[in-house]
Amino acid sequence: MMPSLTSVVAFLFYLTQTSLGYDYVFIGGGTGGLTAASRLAENRNVNVLVLEAGPYAEDLPEVFIPGLFGKGRAFTDLDWKYNTTAQGQMNNRTLIVRAGRALGGSSTINGMIFPRAPEEQYDVWGTLNNDSSWTWNALLPFFKKSEIFTPPNEFQASNGAQYLPEFHGLDPRVGRVKVGFPNFFFPQSELWEKTALHLGFRASPDLTNGEPDAVGVSPNSIDAANNTRCSAACAYYTPLKDKPNFTVITNATVSRIIWSSAGNGSSGLIASGVEYFLQNQTEPIVVNIGPQSEVILSAGTIGSPKVLELSGVGNSTILKAAGVEPVLDHATVGENLADHLHSWVTAFTNASVTGDPILQDPIFAQQQLDLWFKNRTGFYSGASGKTLAIVPPSLIFTDSELKRLLNETSADLLRFAREFSNGNKNLAKGIEAQHKLALKLYEADKAGPLEMNLSPFYNGPKPLDQRPRSNFTSIAVVLYAPLSRGRSHINSPNPFTPPLVDPAYWSHPLDVAAHVAGIKLARKMMQSPPLSSIYGGEFEPGSNNSTGDEDTFIKDFLKGVAGGDNHPVGTMAMLPRDLGGVVDTDLKVYGIRNVRVVDASIIPFPVSAHISSTVYMIGERAADIIKHDLQRSRNEQSIALDSPLKL
Ligand SMILES: Cc1cc2nc3c(=O)[nH]c(=O)nc-3n(C[C@H](O)[C@H](O)[C@H](O)COP(=O)(O)OP(=O)(O)OC[C@H]3O[C@@H](n4cnc5c(N)ncnc54)[C@H](O)[C@@H]3O)c2cc1C
Repeated sequence: MMPSLTSVVAFLFYLTQTSLGYDYVFIGGGTGGLTAASRLAENRNVNVLVLEAGPYAEDLPEVFIPGLFGKGRAFTDLDWKYNTTAQGQMNNRTLIVRAGRALGGSSTINGMIFPRAPEEQYDVWGTLNNDSSWTWNALLPFFKKSEIFTPPNEFQASNGAQYLPEFHGLDPRVGRVKVGFPNFFFPQSELWEKTALHLGFRASPDLTNGEPDAVGVSPNSIDAANNTRCSAACAYYTPLKDKPNFTVITNATVSRIIWSSAGNGSSGLIASGVEYFLQNQTEPIVVNIGPQSEVILSAGTIGSPKVLELSGVGNSTILKAAGVEPVLDHATVGENLADHLHSWVTAFTNASVTGDPILQDPIFAQQQLDLWFKNRTGFYSGASGKTLAIVPPSLIFTDSELKRLLNETSADLLRFAREFSNGNKNLAKGIEAQHKLALKLYEADKAGPLEMNLSPFYNGPKPLDQRPRSNFTSIAVVLYAPLSRGRSHINSPNPFTPPLVDPAYWSHPLDVAAHVAGIKLARKMMQSPPLSSIYGGEFEPGSNNSTGDEDTFIKDFLKGVAGGDNHPVGTMAMLPRDLGGVVDTDLKVYGIRNVRVVDASIIPFPVSAHISSTVYMIGERAADIIKHDLQRSRNEQSIALDSPLKL
C-alpha cells in the first residue's frame, strides 16, 4: 500500500523537527545511560547527545587489564568516591561509596564479576508494579540482548567454568558487552568450591541462570579474545562512535535540567534544556530541546537524584534547606536507597601460590604484568572474586532461628517502614510492601541474604603496612538483600558539592543477623575440608578476647571494618505513586512529561548480585520502551494529519 501524502508530510515534519536538535539528551554516559543511548542511535533518524562528567579512559592499563582493578587512576580521579554520612550502626564511621567517573561509568572501574540475581527478586519488581513485563521471564531476553558470550575454553572449563547456552547472548550481530572467563585460576578456588559443596551448597551450572544460590565460577565482563575489560564504553560507545547522530561530550558535568515556562500544568512539567559545565570552565552551556525531545537521567544512584534536586524537583523542604527553589514537589526523590555491605574473614595459609606476592614484591608483579602483555596469562588476566555463591537463608540459620527472626520482622513491619520512609506515607507503604515480599523470599529460602566469594590472597580491611607479611586466604562475606533503607540528598545548590549519602547500613536487625551468621559460616568454611588443608590460623576477625559471646564479638568487628560494596540502588525507584515511586514502568518521572531515568537508581527492590548485568538489562529494556513510544507518537502524528480538519 502506498503511504498517503499526509503520512509523508508528517514524516518529513518529524525529520525537520529532529534535525533541528537532539531527540534525546542523556545526563551521564555510564552503564545504563550508554546502553540506551547507543541503542537509540542505531536509528540514524534519531539524534542522541550524551553528557558525561568524566573522561574517556579506555586506553588506561588500569581500565583494560582485568587484574589491575582498583589501581592507578581507577580509585582516584575516575571515582566519585562519595562519602556516606556518619553511619550510626557502624561506629559512626564515614564509609566510601565508589562510582565510576568516566565514559562507561562504574563499568569502567568495577570488578567485572558478571552473574545475575535470583529470578524471584526480579519477579518482586513485577509484583510491586503489577506489571509482568518487569519479571525475570520477560527481562531475560534483554539480559541476553546486552551480551556477546564466549563459552569457556578447555582450560577454563577444566577450572570449573560452566554455562547453559539458553541463558546467554551468543549472536555477535546483536550483543554488545563481551562476556567470558579469565585465563588464570588459583587452585584454592577449587578447594573452596568443594568445601562449600561439602557444607550443603548446591553446585551451579551457570551463575546467570536466575538460580545463583549455589557455588560456581562467575563469568566476567571480559573480552575473551584478548582478555581485556569490556566496559559500557567498549560495548556501546566504540562500535558507534563515528555515527553522526551519536554525540558524546566528555568532561561535561550537568548542573540542572531547565524547565519550559509553559510546564507544570495538568500534563506535567516539560524539560526544555540541560545546563552543563565543561571541565575548568566557569560559564555554563545550555542545550535546548523541543517539547517532543526527552532528557534521560542516567547519572547513577547517587548522581541522578542529585541532578533532579538541583533542578528543583524533589522534597520541597529538603530543596529549600539546600538553597534550591522548588519547581515540583516530589517527596520521594533520593529516598529508598539500599546498598550491599562488604566484609571478610581472612586466614593465614600454607598454600604455595597466592596473590599476596603481587603486592609485596614489585619484581614479581612486573614479571606477571609482562606475562599478561606477552600472552594474556598470569595473575593479571583474572578479575577478583571468580568463584562465588549466593547463600540461601537455610545455610546460615536453623529453622527455629529463622522463624524467630521472621516473626520479629513481621511484628515490626510498620515501625521500620515508617522509620525508613522519611515521613512519606506512600513510601512507608512501599517499604512495607517490599519487606513483606522479602519475608516471603526468606520463607521460600530464596532471599539471597549474602554473597560469599574466595580471594586467594589478603582481601580485607588492613593496609599492607599494618598486616603481617604473609600469605592469606580470604572469604568475602557480603550482605545482600538488605531491608535497611536510607537516602541521598543535596545540601547545597552548588553542582560540584557532593550530596549527603546515607545508606543507613544495618538499620534493620534482620540485616545484622544475616551478616553475623555469614561471618560464622565463613569461619567454619576456613576450617572445613578440603579448604582446611591450607588453613594456617585465622587473622580476622581473630581471637575473641572480649567477655562477650561470638555474635557480639563479630558484630563489634563488623561495626569497625565493614565497607560499602558499591552497589547502591533505589533512589529513583520504579514503583507506583501510591507506594512512593519516582518513575513509572516506562521509567518516566511522575509529574514530568519528557524526563526518564535509566540507571541503577530505578531498581525498586535490591537484587542479590553484582549488578552491572542488571543495569545493562535495564538500559536495553529502556531503549526498547523509548523506541516503541517514538513509533507510537509518529503513528499518532500521521493519524492526526490524516484526519479531516474539524472547524
Ligand atoms: C569499585 C566498583 C566495583 C564494582 N564491581 C562490580 C562487579 O564486579 N560486578 C558488577 O556487576 N558490578 C560491580 N559494580 C557495580 C556496577 O558497576 C554499578 O552498579 C553499575 O555500573 C551502575 O550503573 P549506572 O548506570 O547506574 O551508573 P554508572 O555506570 O556509575 O553511570 C553513571 C554515570 O553518570 C556520570 N555522572 C554522574 N553525575 C553526572 C553529572 N552531573 N553530569 C554528567 N555526568 C554525570 C558518571 O560519571 C557516570 O559515568 C561495582 C561498582 C564499583 C564502583
